[in-house]
Amino acid sequence: ASIRSMPTDVPASNRTQDRTAEQPAAARDSFTNTPDTDPSLAANRTWGDSIRSRMEASTLGDQTVQANTLSDAGALDEVIATAVAAGESWRALGAEGRAEILHRAGDALQARRADLLEVMGSEAGKVLEQGDPEVSEAIDFAHFYAESAKRIEEIDGATHKPVGLTVVTPPWNFPVAIPAGSTLSALAAGSPVIIKPARQARRSGAVMIEALWEAGVPRDVLQYVQLDGRELGTQLISSPAVERVILTGGYETAELFRSFRPDLPLLAETSGKNAIIITPSADLDLAAKDVAYSAFGHAGQKCSAASLVILVGSVARSERFRRQLIDAVGSYRVGEPWEGSTRIGPLIGPAEGKLLHALTTLEPGETWVIEPEKLDDEGKLWRPGIREGVAAGSPFHLTEYFGPVLGVMTANSLDEATAMVNAIDYGLTSGLHSLDDDEIAQWLASVQAGNLYVNRGTTGAIVQRQPFGGWKKAAVGAGTKAGGPSYLIGLSDWEDAPVTA
Ligand code: GLU
Repeated sequence: ASIRSMPTDVPASNRTQDRTAEQPAAARDSFTNTPDTDPSLAANRTWGDSIRSRMEASTLGDQTVQANTLSDAGALDEVIATAVAAGESWRALGAEGRAEILHRAGDALQARRADLLEVMGSEAGKVLEQGDPEVSEAIDFAHFYAESAKRIEEIDGATHKPVGLTVVTPPWNFPVAIPAGSTLSALAAGSPVIIKPARQARRSGAVMIEALWEAGVPRDVLQYVQLDGRELGTQLISSPAVERVILTGGYETAELFRSFRPDLPLLAETSGKNAIIITPSADLDLAAKDVAYSAFGHAGQKCSAASLVILVGSVARSERFRRQLIDAVGSYRVGEPWEGSTRIGPLIGPAEGKLLHALTTLEPGETWVIEPEKLDDEGKLWRPGIREGVAAGSPFHLTEYFGPVLGVMTANSLDEATAMVNAIDYGLTSGLHSLDDDEIAQWLASVQAGNLYVNRGTTGAIVQRQPFGGWKKAAVGAGTKAGGPSYLIGLSDWEDAPVTA
């Protein structure tokens, strides 16, 4: 739907190679950040045309969504009872048996890579550059958790009590990898799962789950539901049969879930407001590239995205860094997800509320380095923006916006910059660019965040190598991490037991 509703007047000029001189320059330029003569772009467009028709016409996942939409309490009770009962035989398979099926799930996801890219682009505006590694992450989760299942039994064999029914409520921004990771971890541990993909990305979730079913995960063990009406959501989360909820979403949603059931065993990865600090010792070219990608990959719609860059000392006055950042961001093509060269696709919905405010309004003392620009009528397609002069304690310093806008702050020292990071309520990801070992050690010892990245962007955590999860308001519940062993049993100290997949 997100694509069909995009305007055809402006971007059309970029869809074909045979554009003529008659085309108005404004129409061409408004969508093209790179010269039209670049031959690789022309090739991309031809290739993109076939992907475009797949994405535009895609109905993948539709049937699964329709067949699994519940509209009354009785039907949901039945799903819960079926899943609980099916858990018996799933556990009886033993770790080896479950691991075999989960490895097959990894292969099934690989086999459906093109379908997954199609449905994510069609439904959630996910560009190929972002969707492709996302499918790889889902596959990694499958193989990682398959091997982890065996390790649990080795380490914990006799005493490990498998969790009963797990409910998984993933977000729309990683509509394949996040539901896959949560679901596969629970399945590995012997738990039956009821998953309710986000409304905005329910077809993507459905295709991912179809792959798991195809691989041999029984449909009773892994139940997909869409719920008609809020009451059913409350009923599901409040059900005493539910032994664990894995949520990835906003902090407010975690609080809401807890209000339904105060004793809810919840593993929640929630919000982020993440910064990258750059010190004078840094490789400024690398830093500019990493900041641009961390801020604007998937249009900034990642919990892990860098929403602030904090320039220390002379970096604040560095024309070179400024120039490199502007150039890096300017090279990002904004457009339709089916074009291979698109770096920033449409937002999940029209920018509104606090995000729209951040895209259109400056606080006193702030100026635009690059002013955001709306490229469609609906407000889903934006050329990203960068604001500087963001003051400590100001709204932009402390608020999560989840969109294509970055703020620049300055600090006199690394200590001051780190204090600015630690003043934020959330502590999900955090970045440092520095080539000085003492600075790196100092920052690692004092910064408060779950995932720390040195001389690398803040997005794209890798399964097993960088289990993903935060501190403070970025995590609610057990404080465990996706892509690490702790999701299996809900204990963060199990991190000490290395798993080699
Ligand atoms: N795991 C993703 C990353 O490292 C972020 C997930 C999220 O946005 O919730 O970029």
